[in-house]
Amino acid sequence: MGGGMRKMLRRIGSWAADGLFPRGACCLCCGDPRRADEEDGLCDKCRGRLEELRVPTSACEKCLSPVKKGERCAFCKSPAMRDVGAVYAPYRYQAEARRLVHAFKFHSCGEAGTLLGRETADALRDTDFDWIVPVPLHPRRLRRRGFNQALLLGAEISRRTGIPVRDVLRRDRYVKPQSRMPFGKRQKNVAGAFSCGEDLTGKRILLVDDVRTSGSTAADCARALKEAGAGKVCLAVSAVVYRRSQ
Ligand SMILES: [Zn+2]
Ligand SMILES: [Zn+2]
Repeated sequence: MGGGMRKMLRRIGSWAADGLFPRGACCLCCGDPRRADEEDGLCDKCRGRLEELRVPTSACEKCLSPVKKGERCAFCKSPAMRDVGAVYAPYRYQAEARRLVHAFKFHSCGEAGTLLGRETADALRDTDFDWIVPVPLHPRRLRRRGFNQALLLGAEISRRTGIPVRDVLRRDRYVKPQSRMPFGKRQKNVAGAFSCGEDLTGKRILLVDDVRTSGSTAADCARALKEAGAGKVCLAVSAVVYRRSQ
């Protein structure tokens, strides 16, 4: 089947979907046709569950990792936070929050992206940044997906906060094979995966990604931004991953 044919079939498919399920009719999480709030895009049940997935107030103030009472945060001492000033996120990456991220990232659901962008912007209360910089996708993945979810999230956060988006990071093609390298040097090799072509002297940067997992991607980006002169780098994501034991 040719590309033109495939495109046409996809278009017909989307017309059919629009006709059967008018845009904006169903809950973005579970497909329930009864949305509690048209703009929010969720049914009552999913909104309630999503509220339970909010990052708890007991989490580390700086990185949002879970901390035990009276103990210092281990994640803050890890290399992941060396160049990252703070992390902002509305949700823990589980259940409904995870479903929304998937709908946005893998099923191109723009409404889910708007919801996540709005909630992430709300998590930034009382902060001040000069530029929003999205984490770039690898060029090959960008071609396959067709969009960079971090850039779209950044654009939504920008719309709500007025902070301009500057897409200044590049994900350079990975060159050196890692397998023959001693483990300690691998991290360094991956660190070279990002570069920044702009002078960021003194700029306060809000790095944006969809999810923070181990923090290593953000750490590598933050390092590249600091090398370009950034005075401060913080990270905003729509969800943070808590390990099962946490
Ligand atoms: Zn629902
Ligand atoms: Zn911490």
